[in-house]
Amino acid sequence: MTERYARIIIDISHEKVDRTFDYRIPERLFEEVSVGSLVLIPFGKGNAMRKGYVVGITPHADYDRDKIKEIAGIVTDSVTAESLLISLAWWLKEQYGSTMNQALKTVLPVKQKIKPKEKKVLRCLLQREALLEAWKESERKSYKARSRLFLAFMDNPLIPYEIAVNQMNLSSATLKPMIEKGFVSMESEEIYRNPIKMKQSQVPRVLLNQEQQVIVDRFSKDYSEDLRQTYLIHGVTGSGKTEVYMELIDTVIQDGKQVILLIPEIALTYQTVMRFYGRFGSRVSIINSRLSAGERYDQFERARNGDIDIMIGPRSALFTPFAKLGLILIDEEHEGAYKSEVVPRYHAREVAEKRASLQGASLVLGSATPSLEAYTKALRGEYLLFLLTERAKKDSRLANVLVADLRQELKEGNKTIFSKNLKAMMEDRLEKKEQIMLFINRRGYANFVSCRSCGEAIRCPHCDVTLTLHNNKSLVCHYCGHTIPMPEKCPSCGSPYIANFGVGTQKIEQMTKKMFPSARTLRMDLDTTKKKGGHEEILTAFSEGEADILIGTQMIVKGHDFPNVTLVGVLAADLSLYTPDYRAAERTFQLLTQAAGRAGRDQKPGDVVIQTYSPEHYAITAAANQDYPTFYNQEMVFRRMMKYPPANVLLTVQFSSRNEKTLAASADAVTAYISPMTEEEMVQTIGPAEASVYKINDIYRKILYLKHENYDILIKIRDQIDGFSENRPDLFDLVLIQYDFS
Ligand code: ADP
Ligand code: ZN
Ligand code: ZN
Repeated sequence: MTERYARIIIDISHEKVDRTFDYRIPERLFEEVSVGSLVLIPFGKGNAMRKGYVVGITPHADYDRDKIKEIAGIVTDSVTAESLLISLAWWLKEQYGSTMNQALKTVLPVKQKIKPKEKKVLRCLLQREALLEAWKESERKSYKARSRLFLAFMDNPLIPYEIAVNQMNLSSATLKPMIEKGFVSMESEEIYRNPIKMKQSQVPRVLLNQEQQVIVDRFSKDYSEDLRQTYLIHGVTGSGKTEVYMELIDTVIQDGKQVILLIPEIALTYQTVMRFYGRFGSRVSIINSRLSAGERYDQFERARNGDIDIMIGPRSALFTPFAKLGLILIDEEHEGAYKSEVVPRYHAREVAEKRASLQGASLVLGSATPSLEAYTKALRGEYLLFLLTERAKKDSRLANVLVADLRQELKEGNKTIFSKNLKAMMEDRLEKKEQIMLFINRRGYANFVSCRSCGEAIRCPHCDVTLTLHNNKSLVCHYCGHTIPMPEKCPSCGSPYIANFGVGTQKIEQMTKKMFPSARTLRMDLDTTKKKGGHEEILTAFSEGEADILIGTQMIVKGHDFPNVTLVGVLAADLSLYTPDYRAAERTFQLLTQAAGRAGRDQKPGDVVIQTYSPEHYAITAAANQDYPTFYNQEMVFRRMMKYPPANVLLTVQFSSRNEKTLAASADAVTAYISPMTEEEMVQTIGPAEASVYKINDIYRKILYLKHENYDILIKIRDQIDGFSENRPDLFDLVLIQYDFS
C-alpha cells in the first residue's frame, strides 16, 4: 500500500511551532489533500484539533512511522494556496523575519470561501414557433405584460428576474400562470459579485507623445524578446504615466498574460477605475478593503479561473492568484502605504520583484517623486530609467511655485494662517470663480487640549500621547482609540480654563470661513470620509463646483484631476519636516511635489503657495523648483553620512512588553549578546532606546537600530537574536520581538 505524508505548518503564530510537522494522509483523503490545503490535525499533548496548511507532500515521513498522527479532515470552506504563493511565503518568512504561518496568512489575503451569490433568471421553455404563437395569442387577448416578455424572449431566452420585474413591470400574478403552463421556468444562476458598478464608456485613445512612445517601444521590444526586467518611469505629475501603463498592459494581455496594477488605496477612486474600465471593460477587476468579503472572494476566484486579466488594488493585490502573470505595475511607487505595518513587514516593491522573477513577469514602477531606493537602483543600472518631463495634456503646464516665509509674515505683524500672497491669490481666484485647495500635512495636528492654569495637556491613559479634539465634543487617542467626552474642567487642577491649541483641518476651515465669509468650503480628512464612499462624495461635490475651497490632509493631494483648480496653498510645509523619522525630508518633498501637481491640470495656468518657517531647507527649495535630481543628491549626502537607507540597510528590532522591567532587561541582554558580532562586523548599533511613543495600549516599546551595508550580515544577527531568545524563556516569554528591514 502506498503511503503519503503531508508537511504541515500549524496555524499558530509562535516561534516555538514555526516549523513543519509531518502527518499521515489517510487514504480517504488522498484526493482532497494537496499542497496548499487547510487541514484539521490533532496537535500537542492533549491532541486538541488545530488547523494547519499543507506545504508539501512526500512518500516518506521525517518521523517515527508508528507514532505519526493522521490528518483528521479538511477545512472545506478555505481557499487553497497555489504552490507559487507558498514559495513566496517561504521567501517572506526568510526575508522579513516572521513565522511561516504569518507569511502564509499574508499571501492569502482572501482566506475563506464565500458562497456564490445567486441571481434569479427566467428561462423561455418554448421553441421558436411556439413562442411566436404564444406572443400572437397574448397580443390578441391584450395581455400586455405577457406580450412584452415573449417579445424579449425572442432576443434572449434568459431574462434576469430583476429586470422582468423592475424594468418590464411583470408582476408575480402574471408570471405564475406562465410558469404553471410550462412556458417559462424560474432558475437561479450563480454569479460573481462585481464591485465595478459602472457602465463601460469608450474613453478616446490619445496619441502618445514622443517620451511616452519611447517607453512603450522599449518595453514591447524587450517583452517580445523575452527579456524581463524592472523599469522605473520618473514622470512629473500629469505627464501621462497612466496612459503609458495602459499601453503596456495592452501589450501583455494581447500575449495572453495577466497584469497586476498596484495603486495606493486612497488613489483607487472612481476616476481611476473608470479609465481602466473604459479601456479594458470587464477584463478588469479591483480589490480593496472597502469591498465586502464576498466581493473580495469572487474577485480572486475570477482571477484564478482566468475570467479577468487585470487586477487593480493596493498592496495585497500583489497576491492575486494569476497563473499567467506577465506584468506587475506599481503606480506612485514611493508611497509609504506600500510597506506593510504588520509582520511580516514587507515592501510591495521587493515582493513584486520576487514574484515577477518567480513567474517570469516584468515590473514597472512609476512616480513623480521616486523613492530614494528605486532611484538609486536606477542610477546603478539595476532598473531601466525613463523620464517624462512635461505635462501630457495640450496647453497644460506645471504650476508656478511661490515660497512664503512665515517668519517674515510674523515680523510684519500678520498673525493669520494666510500669508499676504496666499490671501491675495485666494481673493483673486474666488473672484474669477476658480477653485482652491488648501492643504495641511496632518489630521488634527497638535489639536490637543491643555490647561491655561497648570499647563497640563490631556493625555491618553494607555499611550504616551496627547488626546486629539474631535468636533469640539470628544477627545480621541489616535493610537488606541480611547475616547472621552471633552471635560469641563482640567483633570489635573480643576481649572475651567481649558482649550485646544494648534491647527487642525477643522480649525483651518473655521479660519477660512472667517477670512472669506462668502466662500463655500469643503473639508476632507479622516473624520469626514469615515463612511463608505465618503471620499467619492466629497471629491464629486468639489469637482462639480459645489465648493470654492477644498481643505484637507494628504488625502487631497493624491492623483485627482480637478481642471478648475488653479491655486494650491500648502499652509505649513514644515509640519512633516521635523518628524522624528529619517524619511521626513523625503516625505515632505513628495507631499509638496504632489500638492503642486494638483494645480493647473487643464488649460488655465496654476499657482502654488508653499508657506514655511524654513524656506531655505533643500526639501522645500527643490520642491519649489520641481527639481528632483537636486533633492536626491542632497538627501543622499545626509543618508550616507548617517548610514541610513538606501546608503545602508537598517534593521529595526522592536521589543515590546507590558512589563517595563523585563522589557529593559531583555533589550539589554540581546544587545550584550550580539555585541561580539556587531563589533567584529562593524555593525553600527543605536540603542536600545525608548520608542518615540514609548507606551501604546499599555504596552511599552524599546527599539534597537542596527545599520550595515550588507543585508546578509544583518540577517545573521537577526538569526542570532532568535536563537538567543529561544533559550531564555525567563526573559522572552513576556517580551515580543519584531523585525523591520529597510
Ligand atoms: P499621470 O498618470 O502621469 O498623472 P495621466 O496619464 O493621468 O498622467 O495624464 C494626465 C492627463 O493628460 C490625462 O487627462 C490624460 O488623458 C492626458 N494625456 C496623457 N497622455 C496624453 C497624450 N499623449 N496626449 C494628450 N493627452 C494626454
Ligand atoms: Zn490644570
Ligand atoms: Zn491611547
